[in-house]
Amino acid sequence: MLVQRLEARTLGDPLTPVLLDHLRRVCRRQRMPVPLPWRHLMCRGCHGALRPGYEARIRIRQRQRITTCLSCGRVHRFGPWSKPGPQED
Ligand SMILES: [Zn+2]
Repeated sequence: MLVQRLEARTLGDPLTPVLLDHLRRVCRRQRMPVPLPWRHLMCRGCHGALRPGYEARIRIRQRQRITTCLSCGRVHRFGPWSKPGPQED
């Protein structure tokens, strides 16, 4: 299946953007979210692959994983959101 084909390939493979685009379109057609491991690897702005060190810069800040796409500049944040709790003075 598509996911096995994606796992068999490295992200540097020239066919990977095509497979990621297929995955995105299949998930949209089936009205299901993109599986979490692949959501981290594709850009929602330019639909490209996000390879750390090549097309993406990943920083951990306040327990959040902040991935910046170096192609289009879109920022993806994964992790716990800071709760707007009561202010403690
Ligand atoms: Zn992008």
